[in-house]
Amino acid sequence: MAEFDRIQTVSVVIPVFNEEESLSALLERTQAACAKLQQDYEIILIDDGSSDASAALITAAAEAADSHVLAVLLNRNYGQHSAIMAGFKLARGDLIVTLDADLQNPPEEIPNLVEAAERGHDVVGTIRMNRQDSLFRKTASKLINAVIRKTTGRVMSDYGCMLRAYRRPIVEAMLSCHERSTFIPILANMFARRVVEVPVQHDERKFGTSKYGLMQLINLMYDLITCLTTTPLRILSIFGSVLALGGFVLGLLLIVLRFLLGADWGAEGVFMLFSLLFIFIGAQFVGMGLLGEYIGRIYQDVRARPRYFVQKTVGQRRFSKKHEAQA
Ligand code: UDP
Ligand code: MG
Repeated sequence: MAEFDRIQTVSVVIPVFNEEESLSALLERTQAACAKLQQDYEIILIDDGSSDASAALITAAAEAADSHVLAVLLNRNYGQHSAIMAGFKLARGDLIVTLDADLQNPPEEIPNLVEAAERGHDVVGTIRMNRQDSLFRKTASKLINAVIRKTTGRVMSDYGCMLRAYRRPIVEAMLSCHERSTFIPILANMFARRVVEVPVQHDERKFGTSKYGLMQLINLMYDLITCLTTTPLRILSIFGSVLALGGFVLGLLLIVLRFLLGADWGAEGVFMLFSLLFIFIGAQFVGMGLLGEYIGRIYQDVRARPRYFVQKTVGQRRFSKKHEAQA
């Protein structure tokens, strides 16, 4: 097996949206955890358009002497995943670790993630050992996780936890995806070869409330599904075909029964109307599914995900001296 690239630098990327109460503890604990690393490190805090003192606190932390903090202030709220992407763009480390600012992901786990990545993994996922969220959130993400596992075939047990680590090539591959709605852990898995999951602690949210309400969760779920597949569009044509076929079979059955049981039984063709209705509604769904297939393909093209991604190329000279001079 090939030798893995050593990790020399680590970037920690943290999106912040109205988290003023937890910021000082977050910074302190993250810095303490990073100081334990053998690698050099940077901490990138992205203020996602907070309306409280978060931006000022981040800026102050970045301006402090000997600070490893880079403050990135977005002009308005773009959402957690976009904020993380902004952080990725600026991160320079060989390994990039993401975590939440609300201290639900203990920063003390960072060295464990780095260690797991050092063993040669591209993506280090996490499993929340003692998840501290409401029952509603837990059930919702159990459901979502199950759906993802079915559709991707990738065995990852917990996609919801953002305490994760990605090697630089994975992050670069993600940055070259042009789509607007992204779900980072899934996107990362598409480019990853060696994935590992490590168990981590999970704490209760001590300050403020979750930034995800019902609507945002629904939005996130759609991001997640559309990030993965365009299968839901295909379901339309399958449903339509089944319905139309059912209608057709019903029609045939009615005709046969009409001849066997006589005109009275036919109730003057009322049921025949039903069968025709099914056939036409089914045909409509097939049509919609066809449109869906086109839209799905348009969506694939608009996203313009790179078709492949070269991790690195080794060796500079392919032609002999003589040919190289001509080239
Ligand atoms: N967050 C963000 N922009 C948003 C919503 C959330 O940057 O629009 C950040 C938030 O500050 C936190 C992380 O994303 O660091 C996770 O948010 P939250 O804890 O509310 O989500 P939950 O833990 O409930 O999934
Ligand atoms: Mg949280």
